[in-house]
Amino acid sequence: MHRPVADGNQPYNTLSIRALDQSHHMHPFSNQQDIISEGGVRVITHGEGVYLWDSEGERLFDGMAGLWCVNIGYGRKELADAAARQMEELPYYNTFFRTTTPVAAELAAEIASVSPNNLDRVFYTNSGSEANDTNIRLARLYWKRLGRPERKAIISRQNAYHGSSIGSGSLTGLNFMHDIAGMPIADVHHAPAPFWWRDGRGQTLEEHCIWALDELEATIRHVGAENVAAFIGEPVQGAGGVLTPPPGYWRGVQEICRKYDILLICDEVVCGFGRTGHWFGSQTYAIEPDIITTAKGLSSGYLPIAASVFGDRLASVLMDRPGPMNHGFTYSGHPVAAAVALENIRILKRERIVERVGEETGPYFQAKLRELLDHPLVGEVRGVGLMAAVELTRDKEGRTPIEPVSSLATPVRDLCFKTGLITRGVRDSLIFSPPLVISKDEIDWLVKRLRDNLDQFIG
Ligand code: PLP
Repeated sequence: MHRPVADGNQPYNTLSIRALDQSHHMHPFSNQQDIISEGGVRVITHGEGVYLWDSEGERLFDGMAGLWCVNIGYGRKELADAAARQMEELPYYNTFFRTTTPVAAELAAEIASVSPNNLDRVFYTNSGSEANDTNIRLARLYWKRLGRPERKAIISRQNAYHGSSIGSGSLTGLNFMHDIAGMPIADVHHAPAPFWWRDGRGQTLEEHCIWALDELEATIRHVGAENVAAFIGEPVQGAGGVLTPPPGYWRGVQEICRKYDILLICDEVVCGFGRTGHWFGSQTYAIEPDIITTAKGLSSGYLPIAASVFGDRLASVLMDRPGPMNHGFTYSGHPVAAAVALENIRILKRERIVERVGEETGPYFQAKLRELLDHPLVGEVRGVGLMAAVELTRDKEGRTPIEPVSSLATPVRDLCFKTGLITRGVRDSLIFSPPLVISKDEIDWLVKRLRDNLDQFIG
């Protein structure tokens, strides 16, 4: 068996782990040859609060909470204990054949207790991608049961990220994700979404909002409203570059969905469980969705678990009338993952973490980051709560895109990584989504480190 060997004072042998990784591990969203040519992977070994450590003993500030998911921060023993207790009691049983587990039922009720718009029915999956695949099924089954099987089209948006499976990856509106045969699947359409900095040059924010809503309505008309099952959108587009909606945008989307009787799905995988300063982004933007997608922050990423959550509108057709739901996963409602998610939500409640993001750390984070607007390379800072993008530019007035795209953001990101701050580059922006337990002092450190690194690229 291959096992890394302890190396002097280092508990891990970095070179040995890298060699094993290089030989046997294909990384997601990566170019394997770039990993090799750039010196191999960094080996992350443990975490505490907002910090991670690598196998060389270097400390990293995790400005992304993993992949937007470690909401309560690293190293919470309560979650490890909850997992261990459940492992001993019942490590696994399924929920397919008229069985449940206490913890799967309790978690469903706990999710219902925090969900927006009285959504109180839960269908469990293991990932956000699976939950969005589930949403496609739920929406189509809903219309089929109502005698409207032609309503099967799903309207998504450009720059959306809804997952990487064939179904959810089709909903994703990033072209590089469709660069393979058969993608996107039939009956998925992508309307333009607001991105004022890049696409709204020459428009006020209000004009840009009206333009985006007109484009959405035009897409629906083009497909034929009578063929549309649902619209799906992230309250704030995350992986697309923390694209915050202009004021009034979501009210407009909701009106359009109601006008054409289209189901409204909010993908809350990133925004959910406190990121925007409310439990859900739907609450931050006063959206009344028919379905929400949850994952990531549901368990703070400690174990894989996700869910589609819906309310009476769907339940009255899909649960309260006869008819099967021929869909599910071996690990739907996995008891150990459910136990961890349950404890995670209880901690979020007990420690008032969501309220703190809404009232204190979120506004502070946004204000501190906006101080960077005096920097010659910063064009826009956008975000809400504890998610933000710092848009880099060499032309603050004209907002001309940097050529080639990412040629500034990538080296700044790399320098941040080298100097102990994890951020992510999306086109010309750097994005942030730290653990929700971040303190004001830690926010100060993050913003100063970013400014110091940006200074290296002036001129
Ligand atoms: N939806 C959104 C908004 C996401 O950001 C992601 C992942 O980043 C997903 C869905 C997919 O979730 P997963 O990676 O768990 O499949």
